[in-house]
Amino acid sequence: MVDNVHRGIASAYLPIRLGKDVGNDMDKGLMKAAFQAMLEISTDMVFLKDANLVYQAASMPFVKMVGKNSVQEIIGHTDAEIFEDENLAKRYVADDYKLMEEGENLIDYMEPITDDNGYARYGSTSKYILRDNDGQLIGILGVSKDITREYFVRQRYQQELRYLFELPKDTYAVCYIDVDSWRVISQRHQEINKATLQACRTVEELCEAAIDSIVDKKCEAAEFYRNFTASKLWGIYASGRNSMTFRYERRITDGSKRWVQNEIYFLTDVDSGHLCAMLSAKDIDAIKQEEHNLVIAARFDQMTMLLNRETSMKEIRQILAKEADKPHVLFMLDIDNFKVLNDTYGHQTGDEFLIKFANKMKYSFRKSDIVGRIGGDEFFVLMRNVAEIAKIEKRARCLLNIILRIGTAYPKARVSGSIGISLYPKHGKTLEEMYAKADVALYEAKRSGKNRYIFAE
Ligand code: GH3
Ligand code: MG
Repeated sequence: MVDNVHRGIASAYLPIRLGKDVGNDMDKGLMKAAFQAMLEISTDMVFLKDANLVYQAASMPFVKMVGKNSVQEIIGHTDAEIFEDENLAKRYVADDYKLMEEGENLIDYMEPITDDNGYARYGSTSKYILRDNDGQLIGILGVSKDITREYFVRQRYQQELRYLFELPKDTYAVCYIDVDSWRVISQRHQEINKATLQACRTVEELCEAAIDSIVDKKCEAAEFYRNFTASKLWGIYASGRNSMTFRYERRITDGSKRWVQNEIYFLTDVDSGHLCAMLSAKDIDAIKQEEHNLVIAARFDQMTMLLNRETSMKEIRQILAKEADKPHVLFMLDIDNFKVLNDTYGHQTGDEFLIKFANKMKYSFRKSDIVGRIGGDEFFVLMRNVAEIAKIEKRARCLLNIILRIGTAYPKARVSGSIGISLYPKHGKTLEEMYAKADVALYEAKRSGKNRYIFAE
């Protein structure tokens, strides 16, 4: 639009400038003034050349772009005189001749330019062929806009788009949705582990398919897709979020489940200016498994799969804090002559013994009790909410018998167990106190001949 105005005024001005007899003096005066005003207000790089490619006018941004200080240094000169770079000047001249030969305007031709300070920028140039009233070619009007900003915005957009659409090995599908016009612009999908996501024509279809595949219909992602509307997405975007992710278990066609991560990433389409959302579904089953393994590793003793020392201690402290008014019992147990077992039958046999014992031990107590491995051949148990001594003694005897029974397979080692027992709150109000008391009792059990349990004093 603006270019057309430029072009109209320039076409009227150029014949006047070239001294052709067009109209009366008042018209000429007006046209000159209009052209002058146009150049003054233009923030674009505007230049006017006659048919011999001699400059007849230029805007200040153009003057500066070519490294000059005043329009006078431009007017009456050619590209060869203006541009230091000989090749560049030659190219401009050749381009202009070609343009005039072909008689067609050049619209939005993108090229590298330099700014006032000589820094590289990007320009979009349009060149219009000017003709007089007889249709005779009289010159060229050039308008170059600095589009560096738009250029980088577009480049970044395209990079993002390319990156998102690359469909990495672990990604089932990506779908590009125009939020403003609420339609699926494009999508790509692929098979991973015999599962893929179906192609959807509409956003509604897409949401239905998404919800359908989610195992836990009450999860955050299912809820999100149930209310998936343009205004909801706009709301999220307006709140300053650039992206969001959901993790959930997805049902796949063969009936199995896999963990999936949905990522929603907002970006503005540079062509339409619309808010768009890039939706991707990535298979994270392996990652989830790894995370799960880490949690397990941090919580459990890897050999016996009993709670490890830290976790047991933490959970016992929590119980003592939460159930401070109830009676609890702490067992500390150490296998007798375990070194002999190791030395006689080998370390691996020792490991097998510990694993067998841990398994049996775990099932000798209620689920709510804490059964853990302190380390080596030492274990502890917190029996919750038990006061009757008979019940406690029964459990202790049971543990000792388990050890003896497993030990019959290794007769040369004469393996048995020793247990020290402390009572809460009788022997201590903190785990540390109970631990210390039970430890003393355990030592006493060892000292007095092993294969026995002893209550703390
Ligand atoms: P005591 O009757 O006085 O309890 O003596 P012990 O032979 O059982 O030896 P102690 O309890 O003092 O030390 C436990 C030994 O258990 C020390 C170590 O060599 C062995 N041990 C520690 N951890 C493991 C393990 O994970 N696997 C095996 N096989 N042996 C272990
Ligand atoms: Mg021992």
